[in-house]
Amino acid sequence: MKFRFPVLIIDEDFRSENTSGLGIRALAEAMEGEGAEVIGATSYGDLSQFAQQQSRASAFILSIDDEEFLTPDTEQSAIANLRDFIQEIRFKNNDIPIFLYGETRTSSHIPNDILRELHGFIHMFEDTPEFVARHILREARSYTDGLAPPFFRALVDYANDGSYSWHCPGHSGGVAFLKSPVGQMFHQFFGENMLRADVCNAVEELGQLLDHTGPVAASEHNAARIFNADHCFFVTNGTSTSNKMVWHSTVASGDIVVVDRNCHKSILHAIIMTGAVPVFLTPTRNNLGLIGPIPLDEFRPENIQKKIDANPFAREAQAKHPDRKPRILTITQSTYDGVVYNVEMLKELLDGRIDTLHFDEAWLPHAAFHHFYRNMHALGRDRPRCKEAMMFATHSTHKLLAGISQASQILVKESETQKLDRHIFNEAYLMHSSTSPQYAIIASCDVAAAMMEPPGGTALVEESIAEALNFRRAMRKVDAEWGDDWWFQVWGPDEIVDDGIGVQEDWILHPDDNWHGFGNLAAGFNMLDPIKATVVTPGLSVNGEFAETGIPASIVTRYLAEHGVVVEKTGLYSFFIMFTIGITKGRWNTLLSALQQFKDDYDKNLPMWKILPEFCQAFPSYEQTGLKNLCQQIHDAYKSHDIARVTTEMYLSPMQPAMKPSDAYAMMTHREIDRVEIDELEGRATAVLLTPYPPGIPLLIPGERFNETIVQYLQFAREFNNKLPGFHTDIHGLVEENVGGTRKYYVDCVR
Ligand SMILES: *Cc1c(COP(=O)(O)O)cnc(C)c1O
Repeated sequence: MKFRFPVLIIDEDFRSENTSGLGIRALAEAMEGEGAEVIGATSYGDLSQFAQQQSRASAFILSIDDEEFLTPDTEQSAIANLRDFIQEIRFKNNDIPIFLYGETRTSSHIPNDILRELHGFIHMFEDTPEFVARHILREARSYTDGLAPPFFRALVDYANDGSYSWHCPGHSGGVAFLKSPVGQMFHQFFGENMLRADVCNAVEELGQLLDHTGPVAASEHNAARIFNADHCFFVTNGTSTSNKMVWHSTVASGDIVVVDRNCHKSILHAIIMTGAVPVFLTPTRNNLGLIGPIPLDEFRPENIQKKIDANPFAREAQAKHPDRKPRILTITQSTYDGVVYNVEMLKELLDGRIDTLHFDEAWLPHAAFHHFYRNMHALGRDRPRCKEAMMFATHSTHKLLAGISQASQILVKESETQKLDRHIFNEAYLMHSSTSPQYAIIASCDVAAAMMEPPGGTALVEESIAEALNFRRAMRKVDAEWGDDWWFQVWGPDEIVDDGIGVQEDWILHPDDNWHGFGNLAAGFNMLDPIKATVVTPGLSVNGEFAETGIPASIVTRYLAEHGVVVEKTGLYSFFIMFTIGITKGRWNTLLSALQQFKDDYDKNLPMWKILPEFCQAFPSYEQTGLKNLCQQIHDAYKSHDIARVTTEMYLSPMQPAMKPSDAYAMMTHREIDRVEIDELEGRATAVLLTPYPPGIPLLIPGERFNETIVQYLQFAREFNNKLPGFHTDIHGLVEENVGGTRKYYVDCVR
């Protein structure tokens, strides 16, 4: 495997027939003679565009002539250009070699701040081109050789090695695929390297993920350093698994645990698996259905105690072990709508009151790399340790960084008084790991971490914030152009800086702000991460009032999907997109123009067969309906059931546990359950997790009783699904059965 990193030359004479052109081309040919690839450009063009090439090149050669120093004016502008360009590169990349190429007198004109960033000054005609070429290529090679982090490097070496394997996987470096036609297709699609690098843990020189040795350990160590943690463990089964590992390493049956009510289902699975007794912290919600933060007061120890007192199972657990603190706190750091918490304020409140603080940062692995998020994420440079509490953060490397699916990591910050016992921790790690981890995922954890090393990582985060703000500004501009006519809004503060990324303060949720709809929040406690954008469709106000007309988001996102734009999640009157480090201008511009097309088609009330042909094939009953009319039908259905209020209230309604979640689950495994029709559910305790999509957040957990609001919601969903198939609300946990031609819905409840 030979990596492709050309040397980039920028010289305005690169194609000229003068001596300077001859000189630079001679150098280029000499480098090519050494087997290097060389690309010549005659001007910087757009400086920052050109500086992007830093990720593809192995070195830059910037040429500068004595002519440019003939007058003070030309000198000044030449130096300024050079400085800007070098700064653009160094903003992203500290290490790539930059050479200046010029005439002998030139070097004396170059100020120190520029010289400092250079790997050398090449004097034209002073040495042979061959000699200079070798010198440059040595530096370039040493730079590219230093790029690969430990595990990825070892894996590449191993795959290059060409050794025959007798171990699993059985496809033997991809050879098995070549023996069948469809296997050939697979092989051609994924390529030889992916299959050669798919090895098993018998390969000693790669180290072991499961006991953290060799190059794997070195890469975890490297990631721990980059993410400011004492320990880092790569996980190849997603943060769903990382969360279970953290829990199983600390929580035992009967422990009281304090959990964000809107946590990911993996946390609820962990509650069931460990036999913990949960008390829940309730986040705010606004009537758009967006999840706000858990108010600061909810976290106060006296309030947590109140919750324990109000829950018979927690009370009993505490009576049994009055000396024990709650074992763990888990919060979703960055809610699904992008709201984050000030971790220093939480530490101050909870350090010493709860044994372990766990931040589920599945959506927040980027925050540590930019001061924009100062204190609004779990672990960071210059952040103090807790005195007593151990801190964990779990990251879905694959969600916002450059990890492949299921790439995840667990970060640990020890306290002043507690060290992590790695041996004990690993017992839980092993419990949830496959014994055949996917090495490509490990490599992507390794590479994703290395990519985030400042300054490169900081630049990447800054770029995604900048693009997110550009998108928001562009949406406002379109809105202003439409005047009183409708347009989509992006949820966020009223003011956005005109230029650049602004500061954290711009995105803080202030207690007196109207835009968020979460009421009286504690000062400085929460911010909205601007890279997470909720686009709000017309029809519903933040106070939950329905307008006359409305455009439910499910139609918009279906429209977008048929136009090649797939969004992250869809709510009633909002949908969610993210500006990850993979974002490009082209991507959000495509979204913007698709939204404009939607508006156009909506305003013209075009028939559905014309605008959503694929959808109409599946649901022909909509063919003749106009887009506007269909929007209105769905809007009216939502409105007549006051569904925004119902969904908000059902999440906020007090949940009554009838038994411990693990006990309810145990009854299900023994089939001590009834399959209950939804009209009969009130008062019954569910045996399963009940999760409506949207928003995809569990509503009831095993052992909790159905209340009136939830039953009302399920009845609405049934009616709605019958009336408007294709736009139905998905509810995981419901059992759907066709009884004599009518569709009936059931939930498995404990007896
Ligand atoms: C996605 C997600 C997870 C699970 O992560 P996977 O990597 O998909 O397993 C856990 N917690 C939160 C908050 C998530 O959003």
